[in-house]
Amino acid sequence: MKSHHSSNEADNGDLVDPFGRHIEYVRLSVTDRCNLRCSYCLPKGFDDFEVPDEWLSFEEIERLMQAFASLGLKRIRLTGGEPLVRRNLPELVSRLSAIAGIEDLSLSSNAVLMDRQAAALKQAGVTRLNISLDTLRADRFAEITGGGHLDKVMAGLMAAKAAGFAPIKINMVAMKGINDDEYDAMVDFCIEHGFTLRFIETMPVGSTGRWASSHYQDLGEVRKQLKQRFELVPGVMPGGGPARYERVIGTDLRIGFITPISRHFCETCNRVRLSADGQLYLCLGQNARYDLRDVLRSGASEAELQAAIQEALALKPQRHEFKENPEQVVRFMSMTGG
Ligand code: SAM
Repeated sequence: MKSHHSSNEADNGDLVDPFGRHIEYVRLSVTDRCNLRCSYCLPKGFDDFEVPDEWLSFEEIERLMQAFASLGLKRIRLTGGEPLVRRNLPELVSRLSAIAGIEDLSLSSNAVLMDRQAAALKQAGVTRLNISLDTLRADRFAEITGGGHLDKVMAGLMAAKAAGFAPIKINMVAMKGINDDEYDAMVDFCIEHGFTLRFIETMPVGSTGRWASSHYQDLGEVRKQLKQRFELVPGVMPGGGPARYERVIGTDLRIGFITPISRHFCETCNRVRLSADGQLYLCLGQNARYDLRDVLRSGASEAELQAAIQEALALKPQRHEFKENPEQVVRFMSMTGG
Protein backbone atom coordinates (compact mmCIF):
# COMPACT_ATOMS: atom_id res chain seq x y z
CA MET A 1 0.00 0.00 0.00
CA LYS A 2 1.31 3.44 -0.86
CA SER A 3 1.92 5.87 1.90
CA HIS A 4 1.79 9.54 1.04
CA HIS A 5 3.03 12.14 3.43
CA SER A 6 3.23 15.73 2.41
CA SER A 7 2.88 19.04 4.17
CA ASN A 8 -0.55 19.64 2.60
CA GLU A 9 -1.82 16.13 3.31
CA ALA A 10 -5.60 16.10 3.88
CA ASP A 11 -6.83 15.09 7.29
CA ASN A 12 -10.42 14.11 7.79
CA GLY A 13 -11.30 17.55 9.14
CA ASP A 14 -13.44 17.89 6.02
CA LEU A 15 -15.41 14.76 6.85
CA VAL A 16 -17.34 15.84 9.92
CA ASP A 17 -21.05 15.33 10.55
CA PRO A 18 -23.45 17.73 12.30
CA PHE A 19 -22.72 16.07 15.66
CA GLY A 20 -18.98 16.65 15.38
CA ARG A 21 -18.15 13.02 14.56
CA HIS A 22 -15.23 12.51 12.22
CA ILE A 23 -15.99 10.08 9.43
CA GLU A 24 -12.97 7.82 9.01
CA TYR A 25 -14.41 4.89 7.32
CA VAL A 26 -16.52 3.97 4.27
CA ARG A 27 -18.14 0.56 4.05
CA LEU A 28 -18.32 -0.04 0.35
CA SER A 29 -20.81 -2.60 -0.94
CA VAL A 30 -19.67 -3.89 -4.32
CA THR A 31 -22.82 -5.95 -4.94
CA ASP A 32 -26.12 -6.52 -3.18
CA ARG A 33 -26.04 -10.18 -4.31
CA CYS A 34 -25.15 -12.96 -1.95
CA ASN A 35 -24.57 -16.68 -2.30
CA LEU A 36 -26.12 -17.34 1.15
CA ARG A 37 -29.55 -16.56 2.62
CA CYS A 38 -28.88 -16.10 6.33
CA SER A 39 -32.16 -16.06 8.23
CA TYR A 40 -31.44 -12.70 9.91
CA CYS A 41 -30.33 -11.02 6.68
CA LEU A 42 -32.05 -12.15 3.47
CA PRO A 43 -35.31 -14.11 3.14
CA LYS A 44 -35.00 -17.66 1.75
CA GLY A 45 -35.50 -17.69 -2.01
CA PHE A 46 -34.94 -13.93 -2.32
CA ASP A 47 -33.51 -12.95 -5.70
CA ASP A 48 -34.86 -9.48 -6.37
CA PHE A 49 -31.41 -7.94 -6.69
CA GLU A 50 -30.24 -4.85 -8.53
CA VAL A 51 -29.24 -5.54 -12.12
CA PRO A 52 -25.50 -5.03 -12.70
CA ASP A 53 -26.23 -1.93 -14.84
CA GLU A 54 -27.34 -0.25 -11.64
CA TRP A 55 -24.04 -0.93 -9.90
CA LEU A 56 -21.25 1.59 -9.90
CA SER A 57 -18.47 0.54 -12.27
CA PHE A 58 -14.94 0.09 -10.90
CA GLU A 59 -14.03 3.43 -12.50
CA GLU A 60 -16.91 5.16 -10.74
CA ILE A 61 -16.07 3.57 -7.39
CA GLU A 62 -12.45 4.60 -7.79
CA ARG A 63 -13.42 8.20 -8.59
CA LEU A 64 -15.70 8.42 -5.62
CA MET A 65 -13.15 6.95 -3.24
CA GLN A 66 -10.54 9.35 -4.59
CA ALA A 67 -12.88 12.22 -3.75
CA PHE A 68 -13.38 10.82 -0.24
CA ALA A 69 -9.63 10.33 0.17
CA SER A 70 -8.94 13.89 -0.93
CA LEU A 71 -11.19 14.97 1.97
CA GLY A 72 -9.13 12.84 4.36
CA LEU A 73 -10.66 9.35 4.31
CA LYS A 74 -8.14 6.66 5.29
CA ARG A 75 -10.10 3.43 5.59
CA ILE A 76 -12.33 1.44 3.27
CA ARG A 77 -14.05 -1.86 3.97
CA LEU A 78 -15.32 -3.89 1.02
CA THR A 79 -18.57 -5.66 1.71
CA GLY A 80 -21.82 -6.73 0.05
CA GLY A 81 -24.03 -8.84 -0.35
CA GLU A 82 -21.09 -11.10 -0.73
CA PRO A 83 -18.22 -9.08 -2.21
CA LEU A 84 -16.50 -12.13 -3.72
CA VAL A 85 -19.41 -12.69 -6.11
CA ARG A 86 -18.49 -9.41 -7.86
CA ARG A 87 -16.35 -10.35 -10.84
CA ASN A 88 -12.68 -9.29 -10.85
CA LEU A 89 -12.74 -8.02 -7.29
CA PRO A 90 -8.91 -8.10 -6.99
CA GLU A 91 -8.77 -5.54 -9.81
CA LEU A 92 -10.92 -3.15 -7.77
CA VAL A 93 -8.75 -3.81 -4.72
CA SER A 94 -5.63 -2.86 -6.70
CA ARG A 95 -7.22 0.38 -7.84
CA LEU A 96 -8.38 1.33 -4.35
CA SER A 97 -5.15 0.42 -2.62
CA ALA A 98 -3.30 2.73 -5.01
CA ILE A 99 -5.35 5.79 -3.97
CA ALA A 100 -3.21 8.30 -2.10
CA GLY A 101 -4.14 8.40 1.57
CA ILE A 102 -5.99 5.06 1.82
CA GLU A 103 -4.09 3.19 4.51
CA ASP A 104 -6.47 0.39 5.38
CA LEU A 105 -8.48 -1.69 2.91
CA SER A 106 -10.35 -4.47 4.64
CA LEU A 107 -12.89 -7.02 3.43
CA SER A 108 -15.95 -8.70 4.97
CA SER A 109 -16.87 -12.04 3.45
CA ASN A 110 -18.67 -15.30 4.14
CA ALA A 111 -15.58 -17.06 2.69
CA VAL A 112 -17.61 -19.45 0.50
CA LEU A 113 -15.55 -18.34 -2.53
CA MET A 114 -12.41 -17.44 -0.62
CA ASP A 115 -10.32 -20.55 -1.31
CA ARG A 116 -9.69 -19.49 -4.90
CA GLN A 117 -9.35 -15.75 -4.28
CA ALA A 118 -7.47 -15.36 -0.99
CA ALA A 119 -3.98 -15.12 -2.47
CA ALA A 120 -5.04 -12.71 -5.25
CA LEU A 121 -6.85 -10.47 -2.78
CA LYS A 122 -3.86 -10.36 -0.47
CA GLN A 123 -1.57 -9.54 -3.32
CA ALA A 124 -3.91 -6.84 -4.62
CA GLY A 125 -3.77 -5.04 -1.27
CA VAL A 126 -6.49 -6.27 1.11
CA THR A 127 -5.04 -5.57 4.56
CA ARG A 128 -7.51 -7.26 6.89
CA LEU A 129 -10.27 -9.87 6.71
CA ASN A 130 -13.52 -10.38 8.61
CA ILE A 131 -15.23 -13.70 8.00
CA SER A 132 -18.82 -14.45 9.02
CA LEU A 133 -19.29 -17.79 10.73
CA ASP A 134 -22.22 -18.48 13.06
CA THR A 135 -21.79 -22.21 13.65
CA LEU A 136 -19.27 -25.04 13.33
CA ARG A 137 -21.90 -27.66 12.55
CA ALA A 138 -22.54 -28.43 8.90
CA ASP A 139 -26.26 -29.19 9.29
CA ARG A 140 -26.85 -26.06 11.33
CA PHE A 141 -24.82 -23.97 8.88
CA ALA A 142 -27.07 -25.17 6.04
CA GLU A 143 -30.13 -24.34 8.13
CA ILE A 144 -29.01 -20.81 9.11
CA THR A 145 -27.69 -19.87 5.67
CA GLY A 146 -30.46 -21.35 3.54
CA GLY A 147 -28.42 -24.24 2.15
CA GLY A 148 -24.77 -23.15 2.47
CA HIS A 149 -21.89 -25.64 2.70
CA LEU A 150 -19.70 -25.28 5.76
CA ASP A 151 -16.82 -27.19 4.15
CA LYS A 152 -16.45 -24.42 1.54
CA VAL A 153 -16.19 -21.80 4.28
CA MET A 154 -13.60 -23.87 6.11
CA ALA A 155 -11.57 -24.26 2.91
CA GLY A 156 -11.85 -20.49 2.38
CA LEU A 157 -10.75 -19.73 5.91
CA MET A 158 -7.73 -22.00 5.67
CA ALA A 159 -6.78 -20.48 2.30
CA ALA A 160 -6.96 -17.02 3.88
CA LYS A 161 -4.73 -18.14 6.71
CA ALA A 162 -2.29 -19.72 4.25
CA ALA A 163 -2.25 -16.50 2.20
CA GLY A 164 -0.93 -14.73 5.28
CA PHE A 165 -3.93 -12.74 6.49
CA ALA A 166 -3.46 -12.08 10.20
CA PRO A 167 -5.38 -11.51 12.29
CA ILE A 168 -8.51 -12.96 10.70
CA LYS A 169 -11.62 -11.89 12.58
CA ILE A 170 -14.53 -14.32 12.83
CA ASN A 171 -17.92 -12.59 13.10
CA MET A 172 -20.49 -14.73 14.89
CA VAL A 173 -24.05 -13.43 15.14
CA ALA A 174 -25.21 -14.65 18.56
CA MET A 175 -28.75 -16.05 18.41
CA LYS A 176 -30.81 -17.47 21.24
CA GLY A 177 -32.18 -20.89 20.42
CA ILE A 178 -30.07 -21.10 17.24
CA ASN A 179 -26.36 -21.18 18.09
CA ASP A 180 -26.25 -20.27 21.80
CA ASP A 181 -24.82 -23.69 22.66
CA GLU A 182 -21.73 -22.99 20.50
CA TYR A 183 -20.14 -19.93 22.05
CA ASP A 184 -17.54 -21.97 23.92
CA ALA A 185 -16.85 -24.15 20.88
CA MET A 186 -16.23 -21.07 18.76
CA VAL A 187 -13.80 -19.73 21.36
CA ASP A 188 -11.88 -23.04 21.23
CA PHE A 189 -11.90 -22.99 17.41
CA CYS A 190 -10.49 -19.45 17.33
CA ILE A 191 -7.81 -20.26 19.90
CA GLU A 192 -6.78 -23.30 17.85
CA HIS A 193 -6.45 -21.32 14.60
CA GLY A 194 -5.23 -17.98 15.92
CA PHE A 195 -8.37 -16.14 14.79
CA THR A 196 -9.98 -13.20 16.61
CA LEU A 197 -13.60 -13.78 17.61
CA ARG A 198 -16.34 -11.15 17.56
CA PHE A 199 -19.87 -11.71 18.78
CA ILE A 200 -22.59 -9.55 17.21
CA GLU A 201 -26.11 -8.78 18.45
CA THR A 202 -28.88 -9.23 15.89
CA MET A 203 -30.34 -6.03 14.51
CA PRO A 204 -33.88 -5.65 13.17
CA VAL A 205 -33.29 -4.70 9.53
CA GLY A 206 -35.59 -5.41 6.57
CA SER A 207 -38.28 -8.09 6.47
CA THR A 208 -36.00 -10.54 8.31
CA GLY A 209 -35.91 -8.11 11.25
CA ARG A 210 -38.65 -9.88 13.18
CA TRP A 211 -36.82 -13.16 12.95
CA ALA A 212 -33.64 -11.43 14.11
CA SER A 213 -35.43 -9.84 17.07
CA SER A 214 -37.06 -13.09 18.13
CA HIS A 215 -33.61 -14.68 18.57
CA TYR A 216 -31.94 -11.61 20.06
CA GLN A 217 -29.16 -12.40 22.50
CA ASP A 218 -27.84 -9.75 24.89
CA LEU A 219 -24.05 -10.08 24.68
CA GLY A 220 -23.70 -9.09 28.34
CA GLU A 221 -25.05 -12.57 29.08
CA VAL A 222 -22.59 -14.21 26.69
CA ARG A 223 -19.72 -12.41 28.37
CA LYS A 224 -20.89 -13.58 31.79
CA GLN A 225 -21.14 -17.14 30.52
CA LEU A 226 -17.62 -17.04 29.03
CA LYS A 227 -16.21 -15.59 32.24
CA GLN A 228 -17.15 -18.77 34.02
CA ARG A 229 -14.66 -20.65 31.87
CA PHE A 230 -12.09 -18.02 30.82
CA GLU A 231 -10.31 -15.17 32.50
CA LEU A 232 -11.05 -12.02 30.46
CA VAL A 233 -9.25 -8.69 30.70
CA PRO A 234 -9.86 -5.56 28.58
CA GLY A 235 -7.85 -5.59 25.35
CA VAL A 236 -7.52 -3.57 22.15
CA MET A 237 -7.41 -4.46 18.47
CA PRO A 238 -6.46 -2.46 15.38
CA GLY A 239 -9.40 -1.37 13.22
CA GLY A 240 -11.91 1.44 13.33
CA GLY A 241 -14.89 -0.63 14.42
CA PRO A 242 -17.25 -0.58 17.37
CA ALA A 243 -16.25 -3.86 19.07
CA ARG A 244 -15.20 -3.78 22.73
CA TYR A 245 -12.41 -6.29 23.14
CA GLU A 246 -11.36 -8.61 25.93
CA ARG A 247 -8.22 -10.68 25.98
CA VAL A 248 -8.41 -14.30 27.14
CA ILE A 249 -5.64 -14.83 29.68
CA GLY A 250 -3.30 -17.71 28.87
CA THR A 251 -4.09 -17.56 25.13
CA ASP A 252 -3.57 -15.18 22.20
CA LEU A 253 -7.31 -14.85 21.72
CA ARG A 254 -9.13 -11.56 21.71
CA ILE A 255 -12.92 -11.55 21.86
CA GLY A 256 -14.89 -8.56 20.59
CA PHE A 257 -18.45 -7.74 21.60
CA ILE A 258 -20.49 -5.71 19.12
CA THR A 259 -23.58 -4.50 20.96
CA PRO A 260 -25.70 -2.21 18.75
CA ILE A 261 -28.78 -2.97 20.83
CA SER A 262 -27.76 -3.49 24.46
CA ARG A 263 -25.13 -0.71 24.47
CA HIS A 264 -25.32 1.32 21.32
CA PHE A 265 -22.20 3.17 20.21
CA CYS A 266 -23.72 5.83 17.96
CA GLU A 267 -21.89 8.66 19.72
CA THR A 268 -18.61 7.26 18.36
CA CYS A 269 -19.95 6.33 14.91
CA ASN A 270 -17.22 7.06 12.39
CA ARG A 271 -18.64 5.48 9.26
CA VAL A 272 -20.92 5.81 6.28
CA ARG A 273 -22.08 3.13 3.85
CA LEU A 274 -22.08 3.19 0.07
CA SER A 275 -24.45 0.73 -1.62
CA ALA A 276 -23.54 -1.00 -4.88
CA ASP A 277 -25.80 1.42 -6.77
CA GLY A 278 -24.08 4.47 -5.36
CA GLN A 279 -26.42 5.53 -2.55
CA LEU A 280 -24.60 6.85 0.47
CA TYR A 281 -26.45 5.59 3.57
CA LEU A 282 -25.66 7.71 6.59
CA CYS A 283 -26.81 5.28 9.28
CA LEU A 284 -27.35 1.51 9.35
CA GLY A 285 -30.52 1.98 11.36
CA GLN A 286 -32.11 4.92 9.54
CA ASN A 287 -33.29 5.59 6.01
CA ALA A 288 -31.32 8.79 5.36
CA ARG A 289 -29.37 8.55 2.11
CA TYR A 290 -27.83 10.61 -0.67
CA ASP A 291 -27.61 9.63 -4.34
CA LEU A 292 -23.91 9.91 -5.24
CA ARG A 293 -24.33 7.88 -8.45
CA ASP A 294 -26.55 10.60 -9.81
CA VAL A 295 -23.85 13.17 -9.04
CA LEU A 296 -21.15 10.97 -10.63
CA ARG A 297 -23.17 10.33 -13.77
CA SER A 298 -24.12 13.97 -14.20
CA GLY A 299 -20.47 14.64 -15.06
CA ALA A 300 -19.55 16.29 -11.77
CA SER A 301 -16.05 17.70 -11.35
CA GLU A 302 -13.80 16.59 -8.48
CA ALA A 303 -14.79 19.70 -6.52
CA GLU A 304 -18.48 19.03 -7.13
CA LEU A 305 -18.09 15.44 -5.96
CA GLN A 306 -16.38 16.62 -2.79
CA ALA A 307 -19.17 19.14 -2.19
CA ALA A 308 -21.80 16.42 -2.69
CA ILE A 309 -20.05 14.17 -0.15
CA GLN A 310 -20.07 16.98 2.39
CA GLU A 311 -23.73 17.73 1.67
CA ALA A 312 -24.47 14.03 2.26
CA LEU A 313 -22.64 13.99 5.61
CA ALA A 314 -24.89 16.82 6.80
CA LEU A 315 -27.73 14.27 6.67
CA LYS A 316 -26.13 11.83 9.12
CA PRO A 317 -28.63 11.08 11.90
CA GLN A 318 -27.57 11.27 15.53
CA ARG A 319 -28.36 7.62 16.25
CA HIS A 320 -30.24 4.53 15.14
CA GLU A 321 -33.61 3.65 16.64
CA PHE A 322 -33.49 -0.13 16.45
CA LYS A 323 -35.07 -0.39 19.90
CA GLU A 324 -37.67 2.36 19.67
CA ASN A 325 -38.58 1.79 16.05
CA PRO A 326 -37.58 -1.75 15.04
CA GLU A 327 -39.64 -1.89 11.84
CA GLN A 328 -38.28 1.35 10.44
CA VAL A 329 -35.48 0.16 8.17
CA VAL A 330 -37.08 -1.51 5.19
CA ARG A 331 -33.97 -2.27 3.14
CA PHE A 332 -32.02 -5.49 3.58
CA MET A 333 -28.68 -5.63 5.35
CA SER A 334 -27.22 -7.02 2.10
CA MET A 335 -27.66 -3.58 0.50
CA THR A 336 -25.34 -1.83 2.90
CA GLY A 337 -23.14 -4.70 4.01
CA GLY A 338 -23.79 -4.58 7.74
N1 SAM B 1 -21.35 -11.34 3.00
C1 SAM B 1 -20.38 -10.63 3.79
C2 SAM B 1 -20.20 -11.29 5.14
O1 SAM B 1 -20.79 -12.35 5.35
O2 SAM B 1 -19.47 -10.76 5.96
C3 SAM B 1 -20.62 -9.15 3.94
C4 SAM B 1 -22.01 -8.66 4.17
S1 SAM B 1 -22.84 -9.22 5.62
C5 SAM B 1 -24.38 -8.33 5.47
C6 SAM B 1 -21.95 -8.40 6.90
C7 SAM B 1 -22.24 -8.84 8.30
O3 SAM B 1 -23.55 -8.44 8.68
C8 SAM B 1 -22.17 -10.34 8.54
O4 SAM B 1 -21.28 -10.61 9.59
C9 SAM B 1 -23.58 -10.70 8.94
O5 SAM B 1 -23.60 -11.77 9.84
C10 SAM B 1 -24.06 -9.41 9.55
N2 SAM B 1 -25.53 -9.26 9.59
C11 SAM B 1 -26.40 -9.34 8.58
N3 SAM B 1 -27.67 -9.14 9.02
C12 SAM B 1 -27.58 -8.92 10.35
C13 SAM B 1 -28.53 -8.64 11.37
N4 SAM B 1 -29.83 -8.57 11.11
N5 SAM B 1 -28.07 -8.46 12.62
C14 SAM B 1 -26.74 -8.53 12.90
N6 SAM B 1 -25.80 -8.78 11.97
C15 SAM B 1 -26.21 -8.99 10.71
